[in-house]
Amino acid sequence: MITVRHLTILGSTGSIGVSTLDVVARHPDRFQVVALTANNSTEKMLEQCHRFHPRYAVMLDAASGERLQTEIRAAGLAIEVLWGVESLEKVASLPEVDTVMAAIVGAAGIRPTFAAARAGKQVLLANKETLVMAGHIFMDVVKQYHATLLPIDSEHNAIFQSLPQHFTGDLTAVGVRRILLTASGGPFRQASLASLEQVTPEQACAHPNWVMGQKISVDSATMMNKGLEVIEAHWLFNATPEQIQVVIHPQSVIHSMVEYVDGSVLAQLGNPDMRTPIAHALGFPERIEAGVTPLDMFKVARLDFEVPDFRRFPCLGLAYQALAAGGSTPAILNAANEVAVESFLKRRMPFTAIPVMIEQVMQTVSRKDVTTLEDVLAADCMAREAAHEWLASLV
Ligand code: NAD
Ligand code: MG
Repeated sequence: MITVRHLTILGSTGSIGVSTLDVVARHPDRFQVVALTANNSTEKMLEQCHRFHPRYAVMLDAASGERLQTEIRAAGLAIEVLWGVESLEKVASLPEVDTVMAAIVGAAGIRPTFAAARAGKQVLLANKETLVMAGHIFMDVVKQYHATLLPIDSEHNAIFQSLPQHFTGDLTAVGVRRILLTASGGPFRQASLASLEQVTPEQACAHPNWVMGQKISVDSATMMNKGLEVIEAHWLFNATPEQIQVVIHPQSVIHSMVEYVDGSVLAQLGNPDMRTPIAHALGFPERIEAGVTPLDMFKVARLDFEVPDFRRFPCLGLAYQALAAGGSTPAILNAANEVAVESFLKRRMPFTAIPVMIEQVMQTVSRKDVTTLEDVLAADCMAREAAHEWLASLV
């Protein structure tokens, strides 16, 4: 017999959210959508409400919430419309919900994701920023409240799949030597260093293999995404920085690998389509249809690997530095990166200024020990201020 899973999807109108609903729609017997949330995209949310009939629809933005409420009433739908951060936290921790897809982008995802963990939910974690900013605190909360964590990031999902099922946080005990974290290298892997100065947001967002939200697309172009993923892997799998090797693999067919002491390397392969890790986590431990085109090895034909170039991608080095420093430094790195990416997308600074701004903010804002979520949010706030100050000093 199939047990029906009751879902809250945080960030349902985004790239991961839409892919999640695509998988959910293929299995009406398995999933019931209880709550959907978004920032301010009212139209997309209204469409999703018509299609999935959640009990709650939540907008972060109050004006968008009020607009949605009017539309929902006019359509005669029995959906409760809410708004604000507290409402996001509320629907992440509803008693009738067992599974929460955490797919808000950036630091904005941290409070609702924590709420889901504190409520002991099965948390499908796409919002890597939560682990980057507050890895230690979040992993403790997961343990304390008996939440279950399933990684959605394709690399971490691949690592999860390549580890033994009885893995509980000790890599050595299960014979693991290293994690091989693959990276496509993004759109500028081979561009001349001089040309990077002139890169436009459109070029940076045109990822060769994946279609994703804007922020993570720029992160992939700077390889900050891989840096954030190194930190994410550190917390998820209790891996030291030395146990995580980034491997450039331009085809994005191998989603990551685990190397064992006997010389075996286990990998998870597939077409680059986020519905695979999403379906893996939604169905876990069962395998369910995801709508993904099967991998054609003859079409793939070859798989290439390269050593990452830290000169071309300074953000990768900054992330390793932040991980080594610990405390509030990864939250500072993350906040500075968010401001830098947003400023680049708004054409307020060049692509090459992204690592410069982050490094500057990491030097300006001093590292503190963090023991609570509030400590982390304070560091996030200070780093954002420092980043905006640096930006203002540019003109
Ligand atoms: P996206 O920009 O496409 O969607 C973000 C979602 O979050 C939207 O629904 C938006 O309405 C909502 N949102 C944005 N700001 C918000 C705020 N301040 N408060 C509340 N909600 C807000 O992003 P995405 O590409 O789907 O990425 C989501 C998360 O998943 C990110 O953390 C990203 O790193 C991670 N991720 C994405 C992919 C991918 O393929 N897109 C792959 C791996 C990991
Ligand atoms: Mg990834």
